[in-house]
Order: sequence, then C-alpha cells, then structure tokens
Amino acid sequence: MSVFEAVIGLEVHAQLLTVSKIFCGCSTSFGLAPNTNTCPICLGLPGVLPVLNRKAVDFGIRLGLALGCVIQERNVFARKNYFYPDLPKGYQITQYDNPLCAGGHLDIEVKGVMKRIGIRRIHMEEDAGKNIHDDSRPRSYIDFNRAGVPLLEIVTEPDITTSEEAVTYLKELRLVLMYLGVSDGNMEEGSFRCDANVSVRTRGSGSMGTRTELKNMNSFRNVQRISLRRPSCGTPLPAGPVPCDPRRKATTTATSRIPTWSPWSSMLRGWTASARP
Ligand SMILES: [Zn+2]
Repeated sequence: MSVFEAVIGLEVHAQLLTVSKIFCGCSTSFGLAPNTNTCPICLGLPGVLPVLNRKAVDFGIRLGLALGCVIQERNVFARKNYFYPDLPKGYQITQYDNPLCAGGHLDIEVKGVMKRIGIRRIHMEEDAGKNIHDDSRPRSYIDFNRAGVPLLEIVTEPDITTSEEAVTYLKELRLVLMYLGVSDGNMEEGSFRCDANVSVRTRGSGSMGTRTELKNMNSFRNVQRISLRRPSCGTPLPAGPVPCDPRRKATTTATSRIPTWSPWSSMLRGWTASARP
C-alpha cells in the first residue's frame, strides 16, 4: 500500500433536459447550425431581462431530493465574472452563497465495500458557448448555441480517495440523473462533464496537500487516469512533503476552459488551500 493517498472532490456539470434555455426561450437542441439558437438574452446584450426556467428548478429539486439534500427555500443567483471568448457577457449567471440544494450523499460500492460520498451542494447555472479551433489555419470560431443551456453543478465533499471510487461515483450519479429524467447523461455531447480537485497527502495525515484542478473531463477513462505519480518522470512520489502536481498525467486528453485559479472559485471551494499557477 502506498504511503500516499489522494483526496478527491468532484464537481459534475449535468445539462438538464429542458426544451428551452435557463433564462430565455431559445432551444437547447444539440447539433444545429452554429449560432442559430441565440437571442439577445443568451448573447448577453445590454438591457435584457433574464427570466428563470421553472422546469430547471423542478429538475434541480428532483435531484436534490433523490440525493437526500436540504432544498433551500431561498436561493440566489450571482454573477461570476471572468473573461473568456465563449462568454460574451463577461460573466456567468450561477449560484454562490445560496445554492438550491445542500448537504446530501450518494452511496457507492467499490470492491464489495460500501462508502458514503457527501454532496456539499447542488446549484443551478448557465452553460457558456463553445470555442472551435481550426487546426489547418490560425483561426478560431465561437458557437453560442450552448450559451445559456441550464446546468446543475453537483459538488462532493472531499471524501473520495481513489480513482476507482471517483469513477464509481460518477457512474452512479449519471444513472441517478438519467433515471430521474433530468439529464440524458450524454458524455459525447457534453451533457455530463466532470472537474476534479485533487490533492495528495501522506496516508492518515489530516492536512491537505496543494490542490490541483482537472477541468472538463468527459470520459470515465480520463477520471480513471488520476494517479499519484509525479508528472514529469512518471515515478512514484518520494517520502516527505507532497508538493506534487498530478494534473498533467491525467489531463493529456482533457481540456481546460476556465482558468484554474480565480478568487471566486477559491472562496467557493474552501475545503483546501488554493494555489495560483
Ligand atoms: Zn436565447
């Protein structure tokens, strides 16, 4: 048994099976011609008034009840300000201090042993657009059809210690979402994506190591590749302090969309120290 163990917290983004987007009447259909499912609201033009999709709230409550969460009667949307080309407004409408659901759990079975994974929160938010990069020319395109599609973000407590547990949790959660009819769980179309916050510590230690965030993993194989190995040489970590960064090995096929560090995300995910890259 390794003297080290990983501490993993997962954040799943699940696209909801609503007919229209979360704050406007545009269709959520996948695969249409670029920028055909857009309007002044989801393009973030000045002076528009977003109106919340009731069905998205119903779906969020349905999942919260299934996972044993407390449904918060008062929940609030906030602006998460960051710049990225696929976010024309310069901010994402999401929930921060008052999410829809808090304090649930999901039980998983790994190698015959049951384990309870805590759910810290489930909140609603809008998706961003999509960047498409032309490999043959130095040119990129932006498709805003996905901008404003409703998402649930499901955030675990840092209860997961192995990649097997992470994969089992994700498979179980995806089944729950599909059974409830709130998401199709289609990973190829991005309806079910995962970010992982990983730190490594000496086994039995109560403290956390430096956290690394793996963004937008859309396959179980990517999650399975989370490991304790040093990224540069592939050798196991030595004894002593653990200033490691296991990110690169696991992200060779994963992609990053949002900068790893932001004041907002570090406040939100306060369960371990955040380090600016
Ligand atoms: Zn729209």
